[in-house]
Amino acid sequence: MIKENLAAIYERINKAAAQAGRQADEITLIAVSKRQPLAMIAEAIAAGQLDFGENYLQEATEKIKALGHQARFHFIGTLQSNKAKDAATLCAMIHTVDRLKLARELNKHAKAANRTLAILIQVNVGREEQKGGVLPEDAEELIRQMQEFCHLEIQGLMTMPPYRADPEEVRPYFAELRKLGEELQHKGLIAVHCPLQLSMGMSGDFEVAIAEGATLVRVGTAIFGTR
Ligand SMILES: *Cc1c(COP(=O)(O)O)cnc(C)c1O
Repeated sequence: MIKENLAAIYERINKAAAQAGRQADEITLIAVSKRQPLAMIAEAIAAGQLDFGENYLQEATEKIKALGHQARFHFIGTLQSNKAKDAATLCAMIHTVDRLKLARELNKHAKAANRTLAILIQVNVGREEQKGGVLPEDAEELIRQMQEFCHLEIQGLMTMPPYRADPEEVRPYFAELRKLGEELQHKGLIAVHCPLQLSMGMSGDFEVAIAEGATLVRVGTAIFGTR
């Protein structure tokens, strides 16, 4: 079942990329495995899936200890500064950096672990009170303050736009994230040594996100079923 679901998602990614005139290999599928048991992740790995997304650090830690030698785990949930150590040492990439204190802690622990940590800046393009992310107009200042953190590599931006039943209504938020990412890249502030990464799009809207430039799509339900 998971194998078939993955194949269907990759098919849709290929199609969306082709329609957008993009190469499908620019796009990484992150299988969001939060609240799914280890056996489901193992099944996805057996089907060839490499990248997974987790929202809760304790759960992620257990999964990484069991399966981390066979897969990459991205952290996509809200992250407390006091949990930065495990996140910085265990995860392949942190998508949800949105404040200086958290960045400082991640940098400190990445340094202690002698690694460069790939991160994304989460931007609250929908300006929703209950959601994490820096406001678009504050992103540049945050990133400027982060330039001294040499163990963090800011590869791009991530967003969780407002929920809309019609994915077309989410398109402007994806477009805004891309525009902001390109501006910051032009200023030499992010994605200096790599192509700009844009983490956007979930089960309901990843094709629209790909049309707007997503390079990392985070798909849970359409692969693993409801949580
Ligand atoms: C849960 C989650 C997803 C996956 O959502 P689905 O609708 O199940 O595809 C993607 N991104 C984030 C940040 C999430 O928390």
